[in-house]
Amino acid sequence: NRQILLASRPVGAPTPSNFNFTETVIPKPQQGEVLLRTVYLSLDPYMRGRMSDAESYAEPVAIGEAMVGGCVCRVEQSLNSDFEQGDWVVAFAGWQDYSLSDGSQLIKLSPEMANPSYALGILGMPGLTAYMGLLDIGQPKAGDTVVVAAATGAVGSLVGQIAKLTGCKVIGIAGGTDKCLYACETLGFDACIDHYQDDFAQQLAASCEQGIDVYFENVGGKVFDAVMPLLNPAARVPVCGLISQYNATHLPEGPDRLSALMALLLIKRIKMQGFIVFDDYGHRYGEFFSAMQQWLAQGRLIYKEDKVEGLANAVPAFIGLLQGENFGKLVVRVGPD
Ligand code: NDP
Repeated sequence: NRQILLASRPVGAPTPSNFNFTETVIPKPQQGEVLLRTVYLSLDPYMRGRMSDAESYAEPVAIGEAMVGGCVCRVEQSLNSDFEQGDWVVAFAGWQDYSLSDGSQLIKLSPEMANPSYALGILGMPGLTAYMGLLDIGQPKAGDTVVVAAATGAVGSLVGQIAKLTGCKVIGIAGGTDKCLYACETLGFDACIDHYQDDFAQQLAASCEQGIDVYFENVGGKVFDAVMPLLNPAARVPVCGLISQYNATHLPEGPDRLSALMALLLIKRIKMQGFIVFDDYGHRYGEFFSAMQQWLAQGRLIYKEDKVEGLANAVPAFIGLLQGENFGKLVVRVGPD
């Protein structure tokens, strides 16, 4: 049983030395348990938070423990009457080949599901995040201008496409020419601005002639600095993630702009709201799943995976995720179907 353990807590960006690759015996299920074999492992930005012991909404991974993560697994052996050998399930199985479960936290997938790994993206946690964050907090209306950061990623690509289906004008923000071209030509966004360009803030302002009604925040930092002056009265800002800050060791230099932000929220009656997807919206998974599955079946949504081969490559792929090296939803193929 190959495992990737947390070896030490990163200071700044994670490095390979923060992880430890080991091998142990395959665990044996007890009565009521199932033995799971991981086929796909999802790599997600929140894992950076779990490597740190700073206060957060979830417990950190302990040093020497396997890294946590959502997985699509096969049931290898079942001593639980609700599951049969060969079933596909979504499990919080972590960065390892094999794990045990009592079945209570497992989501069974249909054996007919064409792409089981989609349960880690468009039909899973990032999909639910995009759907609920945009529709419940962002409250987009036809004709609104919606801006989304990390626009070609797992969450952002779906936020922008759902906003288009709602009749909005959609401006993406992404890193590099290829990602921006993809957002416009393949995802159908009205424009996409490269945040690496020196005149990024001016380009964003020029694309948002009518201001911004909904800003879906995935990034923070200088991207939010450029968005802030463009927000319209009564704008909505779902605060989903702040990935540009996850490796930061201290607050950025420069003048304190907190009171400027507070004044803006007051004068323009802007609503900013954070959310933690499963805590706030886990109970609405069914509603999301049927809408998303229908759009997908109708060919109204495009979904791109960035698939990495082999558990050993999870470490460089995860380090790259925090630097924008992924293009699409990052998943690791850990073993054969
Ligand atoms: P993505 O697939 O979008 O991958 C992360 C992307 O973030 C990178 O590809 C890169 O895109 C961008 N990025 C990384 N570093 C920086 C930086 N320094 N400045 C600007 N952009 C950067 O990831 P997800 O879709 O899985 O997650 C997107 C966001 O949503 C994250 O902040 C995540 O934490 C958050 N999230 C929150 C949830 C919640 O419950 N609140 C649930 C799920 C996700 P590019 O190259 O285009 O810059």
